[in-house]
Amino acid sequence: MDWPEFSRWGARISEWARVYHETIRSRPVRSQVASGDILKALPESPPKLGTDMEAIFTDFEEIVMPGITHWQHPRFFAYFPANATPPSMLAEFLTSIIAPQCMLWQTSPAATEMETRMIDWLRQSVGLADDFSGVIQDTASTATLAAVLTMRERALNWQGNEEGLSGKRPLRNYCSCEVHTSVDRAIWIAGIGQENLIRVPTHGSTRAMDPNALDANIAEDIAAGLTPAGIVACIGGTGTGACDNITEVCDIAEKYGLYVHVDAAWAGAAMICSEFRGLWNDVDRANSVVFNPHKWLGVQFDCSAHFVKEPDDLVRTLAINPEYLRTSDRDGVINYSEWSISLGRRFRALKIWFVLRVYGLDYLKTTIRNHVEWSQQLCEMIRAEPNFEIITEPVLSLFTFRFVLQNSSDLDSLNQSFVDRINDQGEIYITQTRVNGDLVIRFQAAQFEATRDDVLYALNVLREMSRSMITSEPN
Ligand code: PLP
Repeated sequence: MDWPEFSRWGARISEWARVYHETIRSRPVRSQVASGDILKALPESPPKLGTDMEAIFTDFEEIVMPGITHWQHPRFFAYFPANATPPSMLAEFLTSIIAPQCMLWQTSPAATEMETRMIDWLRQSVGLADDFSGVIQDTASTATLAAVLTMRERALNWQGNEEGLSGKRPLRNYCSCEVHTSVDRAIWIAGIGQENLIRVPTHGSTRAMDPNALDANIAEDIAAGLTPAGIVACIGGTGTGACDNITEVCDIAEKYGLYVHVDAAWAGAAMICSEFRGLWNDVDRANSVVFNPHKWLGVQFDCSAHFVKEPDDLVRTLAINPEYLRTSDRDGVINYSEWSISLGRRFRALKIWFVLRVYGLDYLKTTIRNHVEWSQQLCEMIRAEPNFEIITEPVLSLFTFRFVLQNSSDLDSLNQSFVDRINDQGEIYITQTRVNGDLVIRFQAAQFEATRDDVLYALNVLREMSRSMITSEPN
């Protein structure tokens, strides 16, 4: 492909993007293909000769697009959002054209210095104290892994990387059962072991870790000769939006000298609105915090803001400096690969810069406030319906509910079937979770193109489905 052809296709794809986004409501939100359909459509062997772009693009539309679940669809109410706004796409286009590797300051000074500035813009935007610095990671899972590795090294007096864990007293980490599975994975990868991740019971409507149980668990572990390393708290847990009480967690962590990492992957973006900051009161006392601008701030995947109080501890845990990476730059430059798991790093700061400048914080605040308000309105409407009950109250724009039929003996299967049938129809996309062992329906609205009508439209779909399932249910 020569550059004039690249330029023609660039223009064509950007026009395709406009049409795709302007007509996206006519597509089913969740892909409707059957498993194996796409694989069957792809030749088993690679082509020997080159193919014309026109043919490739036709195949893209005919083979790939039916197999896409439309995360940018305004009626995407499943999981958490992964908003990709137009300015972030343009920044990613530029990044993919320049294609720099941003591992060291010298390998792209603009990327490093913009990363420093953007992390600080984000810190200010969510109201974190100015003694946090930070780094952009690919995902929250990586930030949490980096935090758990730091907890491990601090607890082992910086000997873990060197000596391994064999022969050492087991390390212990603490979290509730509401945290994301990225915490479990971090524990596995750090060599700490699942049985040393202690699940502290939760209490109250916020499903926060019970501080007495947390304190007692740590004290028992110390008495048993184990080594407590740190606590992972969640703000906006994945299932129901559970929020730990950071004040209580930090009081206990300080009592025992433990590291606290706060996972606010989804909810953190909402902290640009000062009225929501009560959810993470005292977060400035934590050692590290992560949130994903790629979820609710319109900065497309991947982009995770990882704030740290003690960057030296992170660097001491992750930095490795072989000869081939040494540079003769002036002292004091930051090499962000020393703050990350991978050496190679994308230029992620550019899309934050584009998004924050194109929209400004006021627009982003209004967008998030609208999502919260519209979800809460929908929650009230569902509450008023005869065959639904609200199971967990809204945390920002996330709540759970259940479809209830009096004579149904298996509400879990009924609700799973309700979710599956709605997603097979494709007008909206929702998912399920479990609350106290029961299967419930999960709803969140946070897509940037969603209007109030899109969010409230979900009620029609739920009502229709409940009517059709009531009629088809045997008496
Ligand atoms: N933490 C929470 C609370 C999440 O909900 C998620 C994903 O939705 C993650 C962490 C993992 O995020 P990532 O995909 O950025 O690793």
